[in-house]
Amino acid sequence: MTSNKQPEVNIGLVGHVDHGKTTLVQALSGEWTDQHSEEMKRGISIRLGYADATFRRCPEAEEPEAFTVDEHCEDHDVDTDHLRTVSFVDAPGHETLMATMLSGAAIMDGAVLVISATEPVPQAQTEEHLSALDIIGIDNIVIAQNKVDLVDEDRAMQNYEQIQEFVEGTVAEGAPIVPISAGQEANIDLLIEAIQSEIPTPERDPEEDARMMVARSFDINRPGTTWDDLMGGVLGGSLVGGQLEVDDEIELRPGREVEEGGQTEWQPVTTTVRSLQSGGDFVDTVTPGGLLGVGTGLDPSITKGDALAGQVAGPPGSLPPVHETFTMDVDLLERIVGDDGGEVEEISTGEPLMLTIGTATTVGSVTSARDEECEVALKRPVCAASGSKIAINRRVGARWRLIGVGTLR
Ligand code: GDP
Ligand code: MG
Repeated sequence: MTSNKQPEVNIGLVGHVDHGKTTLVQALSGEWTDQHSEEMKRGISIRLGYADATFRRCPEAEEPEAFTVDEHCEDHDVDTDHLRTVSFVDAPGHETLMATMLSGAAIMDGAVLVISATEPVPQAQTEEHLSALDIIGIDNIVIAQNKVDLVDEDRAMQNYEQIQEFVEGTVAEGAPIVPISAGQEANIDLLIEAIQSEIPTPERDPEEDARMMVARSFDINRPGTTWDDLMGGVLGGSLVGGQLEVDDEIELRPGREVEEGGQTEWQPVTTTVRSLQSGGDFVDTVTPGGLLGVGTGLDPSITKGDALAGQVAGPPGSLPPVHETFTMDVDLLERIVGDDGGEVEEISTGEPLMLTIGTATTVGSVTSARDEECEVALKRPVCAASGSKIAINRRVGARWRLIGVGTLR
């Protein structure tokens, strides 16, 4: 039995800095990442903020007013019914580090694009985040036109039309645009209604092999803990398929770098699942959705300081291959997205690229570049299946900028 609190779907919150993502998550969840234990808060939520929200419905009210996050309906003095718990992933907007955004996108089932009604459309990260959704192929999108309390009706309408125009021809074309005020908690019911219809919980096959994308890893022991009290290493991330149970054996790939006779080599690591945490509770079984904490039997020195971030976990023998070099088919953007976007030039042999594959981000050096294919040698190997999408970033000035998408051969 999974508890009602276990989130069943991951929804990305994306959009330009200050447009109201964090405020919206607060309006929807009542709390901000407080459900998770201390080590989880310190861990995953710093880089990728997660917050769970439970959508409910008042049995006595008409829709859309019936949609709420409150447990009690004041108007009809009845308790509300549980619909589902969703996990919001609040992508950082201020840092244009697309890799962080994209490693969140790898585990998103849909997205809410927050656009402020107070500014011209699009702002730099509005555009950048939408391209990222496009690239990763996330097309279950709801647009929240936020801060409508700060503009008059004419400006709100104008802005609404700008949004419609901006999303034309993108994955967000036709997505509902819901005018809201996250700050005043206005129209939140309409937004929940739109999310319920546009971002369904994906159908999952529980027979599938468990596949966990590791986003963080930690040592939760205080300094000086004695050997007897030492807790095993903890993994944080998201399950994208199958289910995990306490006492399951799991393998992690690429694993760890081992030195033997002057040669270094990556070897898979195998361990046992000792505890599972989801939706703020310790549980026996987890299915995909939300943030997952896995207590393992690993020596915590292996998991310390995100050492296993970007790796993949699953039943031993079930994981995709590990690549130290690979060939990808390349699809370059025409222009660099964002404020000062120039034309994207061809990739050249020898140039460094920053590649995001799943939750792994690694720098690769191009060993051969032809028209639409490119061979790279990676600094750190990745575990990924053929057909995986790769976000390709190039250094432009002081920043890594998204220039295209690759598909692993
Ligand atoms: P983020 O950077 O996208 O996470 O934006 P925040 O949620 O931090 O919001 C940025 C600022 O806008 C904060 O000062 C919020 O209080 C304010 N804000 C957010 N939503 C609204 C809204 O609907 N109305 C008004 N008036 N202010 C808002
Ligand atoms: Mg924020």
